[in-house]
Amino acid sequence: MAKKKAKKVAKTVAKKQVKKSAAKSTKKVVAKKATLKKSALKKSASVVNITKTLEISLIELIKNTSAILPDDVQKVILEALEREEKNTTAEYAMNIIKANIELAKKKSQPLCQDTGTVLFYVSHPQNFDQIKFTKEIQKAVVKATEKGYLRQNSVDSLTGENSGMNVGPGHPSIHYHQHNKKTVEVKLMLKGGGCENVGAQYSLPHTALDAGRDLDGVRKVILDAVHKAQGKGCGPGVLGICIGGDRGAGYIESKEQLLRRLDDKNAVASLAELEAEIVQTSNKLGIGPMGFGGKTTLLGCKISALNRLPASFFVSISYMCWAFRRQGIELSEKNQIKKWLY
Ligand code: SF4
Repeated sequence: MAKKKAKKVAKTVAKKQVKKSAAKSTKKVVAKKATLKKSALKKSASVVNITKTLEISLIELIKNTSAILPDDVQKVILEALEREEKNTTAEYAMNIIKANIELAKKKSQPLCQDTGTVLFYVSHPQNFDQIKFTKEIQKAVVKATEKGYLRQNSVDSLTGENSGMNVGPGHPSIHYHQHNKKTVEVKLMLKGGGCENVGAQYSLPHTALDAGRDLDGVRKVILDAVHKAQGKGCGPGVLGICIGGDRGAGYIESKEQLLRRLDDKNAVASLAELEAEIVQTSNKLGIGPMGFGGKTTLLGCKISALNRLPASFFVSISYMCWAFRRQGIELSEKNQIKKWLY
């Protein structure tokens, strides 16, 4: 009888212990879940923060690009002003350009009413989400337009309708390149419509210009483009040129040449020579600032070459006006601006 009673007591104690430990482990699970939820919330808050920081950095890049000319461009403009003869229309035009540059910088306002095609060049490491980054760029462009850093400048080509946001098929234009660094670099160029209109593409040989498939032929067509542009591209301008490639690649590469600093030197000796010669000869054409005559028609010329088909020989020329707006930033891990690139 006593044995039976003891067995019953033991059973009850065991049951109680099981219940207790079950309650304990439920408590543990609940606590673990709460911690996980907390850290997920923390993580998503930091993702939101990093995304917000990216937007702020991109808007800052747009604002500065629109208002402040990079140092290398300002330097050649001031040198050109010094070169012009005193009391000429050319000197007057260069002085207006100088005053414009100073005023835009001081007031942090767009340097020209035409804030141009918005061209982004993003260099990134492996495993980079281009789709997400594109969305962030588009968001920043809309905000920068709302704030007045960019003019409402992008219209539907079929209807002419302007959404007022600067975002639509092909705009902003975003070019991605993977590089071996761990950081993300974003370069921005604002390219005005007037200068874009005087860009040109030649197919060599060009009989009318007596231009063959060699560097002398290339020189002839480039000078022809400068001559045809006259003051329409809001000179003094800078040329970005690609020899070769197909028609599409040629134009893309010619624009990318404009990302080079004006004071750099081409690593290919024959191209370095051609770049210098084009600037020198163009400045003797007497077209001058805004086409008013004078000594400065070009501020710079940058040339590269791409392979081509034996059947084709294109020379693609992108003309950039004096309002040569380009800037770049290197982003930190948290998407802050770590460094300005120009
Ligand atoms: S071409 Fe350049 S300077 Fe001329 S209106 Fe357009 S952005 Fe302004």
